[in-house]
Amino acid sequence: MSEYQKFILETVAKQSPFVAEQMRLELERQHRTIELIASENYCSEAEMAAAGSWAAWKYTEGYPPKRETGSKGRYYGGTEYYDIVEQYACQKWLEAFGAQEEYHCNVQPSDGSSANFAAYMAVLQPGDKVLSMDLNNGAHLTHGSPVNFSGKLYDMTFYTTDERGYIDLNDVREKALACRPKAIICGASAYARVIPFDAFRKIADEVGAYLICDTSHISGLIVAGDHPSPFAAGADIITTTTHKTLRSERGAMIFCKKELAKKIDSAVFPGSQGGSLMNMVFAKAIGAELACGDAYKQYIHNVVANCRAMAGAFERLGMAMVTGGTDNHLLLIDLAASGADISGKKVQDALDSVNITLNKNCVPNEKRSPMQTSGVRIGTAPMTTRGFGAEDFCATAQIVTDAIRSLAEDSFEQRAEEFRGRVAELTAHCNGVV
Ligand SMILES: *Cc1c(COP(=O)(O)O)cnc(C)c1O
Repeated sequence: MSEYQKFILETVAKQSPFVAEQMRLELERQHRTIELIASENYCSEAEMAAAGSWAAWKYTEGYPPKRETGSKGRYYGGTEYYDIVEQYACQKWLEAFGAQEEYHCNVQPSDGSSANFAAYMAVLQPGDKVLSMDLNNGAHLTHGSPVNFSGKLYDMTFYTTDERGYIDLNDVREKALACRPKAIICGASAYARVIPFDAFRKIADEVGAYLICDTSHISGLIVAGDHPSPFAAGADIITTTTHKTLRSERGAMIFCKKELAKKIDSAVFPGSQGGSLMNMVFAKAIGAELACGDAYKQYIHNVVANCRAMAGAFERLGMAMVTGGTDNHLLLIDLAASGADISGKKVQDALDSVNITLNKNCVPNEKRSPMQTSGVRIGTAPMTTRGFGAEDFCATAQIVTDAIRSLAEDSFEQRAEEFRGRVAELTAHCNGVV
């Protein structure tokens, strides 16, 4: 346990031994677990400290004064240091992404879903036509799911992937020409290949649609140059979470062309949020500094190399992946195609019991419900932060494969102890959780 973790636990325990105990147990869980959830990561102690600081209770409704949108400043007083840090965070994130002069940044969204809500509010009216990726093909709930505001507010059309699992650009173009959407959304939560932003830009231009790129998962790869940039492609709006491959605190941001800046800013506040979480804005400023550094870029190169190594291991072991592999930080195992007719839920629960955390995931042409699914999603970002290398990920692929096969053969329970031992060997020699 680090000095800082000890300090946090002792401080919490002075008030609430109950909560401190749960926090201690959670820290232990994190230490002993091989964390393969593609949307999670571990942030730095500096960001944790800023997030847990006296910036947590200040109201700063509004924006720093002299923002390029002509903001007149905040509603409340006492915000001078918040103004400085928020402006710094915006400027640093634009720098991290290598964004051109024509882009604007808003670091106030509390999470990815509210960033997308504000992005849509800025350029769409309820009932407008929107073209987005099919949820079973890897899109996010906020890309038009019927249970989400996006599916309820907008008239959605969905493009799909081809039989290999790649985005079908012919389908995107045909549907765009047929439905004439006001906006096209691209970006995904469970897609292992490159998102062709340039091609989407062309199609959006052809039909006069806004191009909204939700880069929540791959934003770290974009910063490091390991994925094409939506800024270079000229996207109108780019949203991202800050806590996935960007490895900062839980939160989100929106970038947009400067002509949309005023609309985006007012869609965030007062459109959809009240006072922003300034402790998280402080953490985001630190995250931006880290993302500008060479160590971060090397980390992302390692994440991608490790994912490729792991996909290679799964392939050698005879496991089938959607699209047959990966270009980024995640891969999707197709269980049925791997010869295991079991649900993703069953695999997730079984692996949880042997200290491997991953999540069930739909596969293209999914036959089970989203609560069961026929696939699992695996990401290499968190364990790369903890120092896992290609060999560790290949050893992990072997455990996951053995576990899936034993589940299919009904021998998992007999082998659970063996699996726990193999996981413990791998986690014993890696770094702590920050
Ligand atoms: C994670 C994610 C989001 C939402 O993020 P939350 O912070 O959980 O609301 C939005 N879009 C995509 C593509 C994501 O992967």
